Amino acid sequence: MAEAGASTPLMDQYRAVQARYPGHLVLFRVGDFYETFGEDAKLLSRELEVVLTARSSDSRGERIPMAGVPHHAVESYLGRLVRKGYKVALCDQVEDARFAKGLVRREVTRVVTPGTVIEDRILPGPEHNFLVAIALPEAASAAFGAVDVTTGELYTGIVEGTGPTALLLALAPFAPREILLPLHAAPGSRESVEAALHGEFPSARLEAAPSSVGRDGWPAPLVASATGLPAPEEEVVGRIVRYVAATQPRLLPFLERLPRAPGDRRLRLDGKTLRHLEITRPMNPEGEGSPTLLSTWSETVTGPGRRTLGFWLRNPLSDVPAIVERQDAVAALLDLGEEMGGIRDVLRRVADLSRITARLAGRRLRPPELAAVRSSLQSVVEVRSILGAAGRAPATAALAERLDPLPELAHTLAAALPDEPPATVESGGLFRHGFHAGLDAARAQEEEALQELETLERTEALASGIKSLKIGYNQVFGYYFEVTRPHLARVPPHFRRKQTLSGAERFTSDALTALETRILEARERASEAELGRWEAFLAELEPEIPRLHRLSRAVGELDVLLAFAWIAYRRGYVRPLVDESTTLSIRAGRHPVLDVTLGERFVPNDTELDLVGTRLVVLTGPNMSGKSTYMRQVGLLVVLAQVGAFLPVASARIGRVSALYTRMGFTDEIARGKSSFMVEMTEVAEILASADERSLVLLDEVGRGTSTFDGLALAWATLREFHDRIRCRVYLATHYHQLSELTATLPGAATAHLAVEETGRGIVFLHRLVAGGTDRSFGIHVARLAGMPPGVVEEAERLLARLESGGLTLQDGARRPRSERPRFAQAVLLPTPMPPEDIEAAQVREALAALDTDRVTPMEALALLAEWKRRLHPAGTER
Ligand code: ADP
Ligand code: MG
Repeated sequence: MAEAGASTPLMDQYRAVQARYPGHLVLFRVGDFYETFGEDAKLLSRELEVVLTARSSDSRGERIPMAGVPHHAVESYLGRLVRKGYKVALCDQVEDARFAKGLVRREVTRVVTPGTVIEDRILPGPEHNFLVAIALPEAASAAFGAVDVTTGELYTGIVEGTGPTALLLALAPFAPREILLPLHAAPGSRESVEAALHGEFPSARLEAAPSSVGRDGWPAPLVASATGLPAPEEEVVGRIVRYVAATQPRLLPFLERLPRAPGDRRLRLDGKTLRHLEITRPMNPEGEGSPTLLSTWSETVTGPGRRTLGFWLRNPLSDVPAIVERQDAVAALLDLGEEMGGIRDVLRRVADLSRITARLAGRRLRPPELAAVRSSLQSVVEVRSILGAAGRAPATAALAERLDPLPELAHTLAAALPDEPPATVESGGLFRHGFHAGLDAARAQEEEALQELETLERTEALASGIKSLKIGYNQVFGYYFEVTRPHLARVPPHFRRKQTLSGAERFTSDALTALETRILEARERASEAELGRWEAFLAELEPEIPRLHRLSRAVGELDVLLAFAWIAYRRGYVRPLVDESTTLSIRAGRHPVLDVTLGERFVPNDTELDLVGTRLVVLTGPNMSGKSTYMRQVGLLVVLAQVGAFLPVASARIGRVSALYTRMGFTDEIARGKSSFMVEMTEVAEILASADERSLVLLDEVGRGTSTFDGLALAWATLREFHDRIRCRVYLATHYHQLSELTATLPGAATAHLAVEETGRGIVFLHRLVAGGTDRSFGIHVARLAGMPPGVVEEAERLLARLESGGLTLQDGARRPRSERPRFAQAVLLPTPMPPEDIEAAQVREALAALDTDRVTPMEALALLAEWKRRLHPAGTER
């Protein structure tokens, strides 16, 4: 009540701003702080760990919570708020408090949202920062648009297929930071889309989409680059226009719609595949910092290069001529050999031009950044001349051609900027002498007055005989003569006392006051002229922005191609043959991440799939033998080949893949705490629904999260579906070695396993792929290696022996209610399985026996109970 009623002019002003910016966290400038009040103050204090205080908010002395951050540090706080998904409105004082009548006027000068920030200190890194909008028309297909305002790139597309899954597939390659979600979507569909988006992109901010702006409200360049768009895509672009106009209006004229890939034919990668293959992020969110494909292949040397690499890896091509074009460029660069190192050293000096350009457009540019553009353009000239030197291969020369060093801009910057511009606009000295006559004149006047000041100091010292007489300056008192205490007797009569210090007195005189006025006026004139010229100067640079963005993209692409060539050169990687065949044939392939982290210790393996021969391989082998690694290796090599990179292989032929699906079963997904049999089946169902002949499917132990017979039966049925109906290339890893035996009956399928060597004391993993299946799963050996107590291992061996002779299966089945007994029709069809449950059960019994019930705490007991329950009844088999 107190809050609602509390009223002072300041609080009224604050609430009026809040009302105009609903959904924003308003940071309200009061003196040197940005403050928040009431509920927002509590929130700010919690999120940023800043002190919560209170101020009296009305005449009766009611107190209201208040929390704020110092204005000079606001950027870093903004960064933290935006990363937490807040949308912030900065409300500044827009008139000088000295001249304000009554309350200072305040206005929102900046809105900062996760998808529209441009400041380096707020952006998480050089990677793309996409704002995504979607349209969900009732009758037509959904459409999406993704814009990175920091690079001016806008991509749009129609979602293939229906439902949230199709939408997620379309959005996954963008890793959106902020999503504009239409409010008016059909009832029910909005909720399901919202839940799906939240699940897939947990760190993205979901924002109610504004209404769409029609084409005639778009800036001209956008209209030009988006002619002939279908209506749903146009709607999406219109939404983006409205949102950017509200958050970063100055950037709007520089958005350009681009095709994502030549002909826009891309290798489809859904979010799960991106995660499982750890393309740009580690699968385990806690594994932050553990290697990914992007981190291991980040041999780029510029911000745009790193950004382009991330984007390419998430958007591999599916167009053979486009892939070959990139490969040709890499091959041509590779021919330069050691010389590449020199080019990379020059390229390294090129700044992140796109980001600087966005800040130029948004007027958040610091002067040194323009100097960075100037020196970057020099480096571009240098790279261009090395690449374009006489006698180069046509592909190399073509790369040089694409680097436009923007000579006019270079000239302008050279003429205007001093060698080392000041850190901030306010500190002055923005322009080189001779660039602006008015500014130079004002500076000369200031300089002249300062000279006279020195003369005055000398004459007064001489006249008074006070040798230590000094002229000083401070903000409050201006210029003064300072006389130390012992000399006060000699102070001339025309000095007037200004200030008394402990050891000295400060004075002024008519001459000093007059000089002071001249100096301050000249300085004021200079600074006005300078700031005015700076604004005008930035405006003059604006026409260069589209060219700067284009140059930055060219630098990024060159950087990635050079990185691929450099990696190939350093690590001895090989150009794969990518064609329209249906082959997937790899000799001595290595995992592109482990090849770097494990080096020599990594065991290479072959891959051989073909739609006309063996299109489906069932992979068996004990735990830890390398099944998952092998399948990821195949997936990653395909991704890299279709990005245009050279590969860690002896040779490779990759028939174009149009979509890559990977699913990891129970054991691997459990780290995310998400897997259940239901989830697994949903995922496989999705693949079955969308895979086609050109897809590559990698299924890793899917169907584990249920009882043995169910899982085996489903795995077999799934395998048949891929083999008989979809007929695409498939690897399927399984611990059901029985599947191998069934596979022998299918003409398009084969089996392989990862070899192990049995020694007297256990097994050694060879990590070598061998044709044919295995008949044992070696789980017990692995348990022994893992340090399982010998008693457990021996008991397990006894159980296994009985299981394999069939005894325990029957006994075990007989103990269960009739309805739950294994179906013997299946048991007859399939060889006797070794149920992992029984090993689990043995372990649980052992643990129970070892438990000291006198010493266990209730909490520990509960945790143990939960664990045992989980182990005895894995997810999905709850009863
Ligand atoms: P699985 O899926 O069969 O349980 P993983 O693929 O998880 O086995 O591999 C187990 C371990 O073996 C991994 O930690 C990996 O580092 C190592 N490994 C797998 N394949 C190879 C290989 N080809 N060369 C060397 N080490 C490998
Ligand atoms: Mg595995």
